[in-house]
Amino acid sequence: MKAEPADQIRLLDLQEIDSRLDQLAHRARTLPEIAEVERLDSDIEELRSKLTAAETELSDLDREQRKAESDVEQVRTRSERDSKRLDSGQVSSPKELEKLQSEIASLRSRQSELEEVVLEIMERREAAERRRSELREELASLEATRDAAEERRSSAMVEITNERASQQERRERVAAEIPEDLLAFYGKLRDQYDGVGVAALQYGRCQGCKLALSTAELGGMRSAEPDEVLRCEECRRILVRTSESGL
Ligand SMILES: [Zn+2]
Repeated sequence: MKAEPADQIRLLDLQEIDSRLDQLAHRARTLPEIAEVERLDSDIEELRSKLTAAETELSDLDREQRKAESDVEQVRTRSERDSKRLDSGQVSSPKELEKLQSEIASLRSRQSELEEVVLEIMERREAAERRRSELREELASLEATRDAAEERRSSAMVEITNERASQQERRERVAAEIPEDLLAFYGKLRDQYDGVGVAALQYGRCQGCKLALSTAELGGMRSAEPDEVLRCEECRRILVRTSESGL
């Protein structure tokens, strides 16, 4: 293939732009904030389900507490009623009096047992409330961390998008100056060789594979026509001669 030396040099500019675009695409895919936000999202989700569990526990305890309080109330009412009967003097039979007294005693002991239950539920409720407010605080702080990471991610993305747009614009201008056949050949090699289709020959070394050319290869390049499109024997990329080629 033949191409004007100036067009070959222009191809090196295009390669530089394409490599930069590849770097930007890679950076956009691998921003550390992407993984960070993902990790925080899953932590937040876990915390939210813990919070839901704590809230369910609290409402269960509320119900238990209301039930226990109403049990206490029932026993207390009965015991008061019995005490009134006893005090009224209406019961005169010693046997019945004894029965009433024993019932009052057992109701009182039942009441204090039930009051213990209420206290125990209240303690559990307090612990559950503490747990809920701890989880709420933890969740708020995690959400703030996540929002900050998200903010960093989107500002990095804006930066990348802007540079990408300006490199794309440059690419269009440079590509328009390169003959189509050379451009197509470069594109094919770029696909084939890891995004690098062309390299400069610099001080006897191919900048594509970084290998030094043999004396015989250099001799061949020295005698080649300037518009001959050369290839690196080693990596098969287009090799462009510049003023720094050392030929
Ligand atoms: Zn090479």
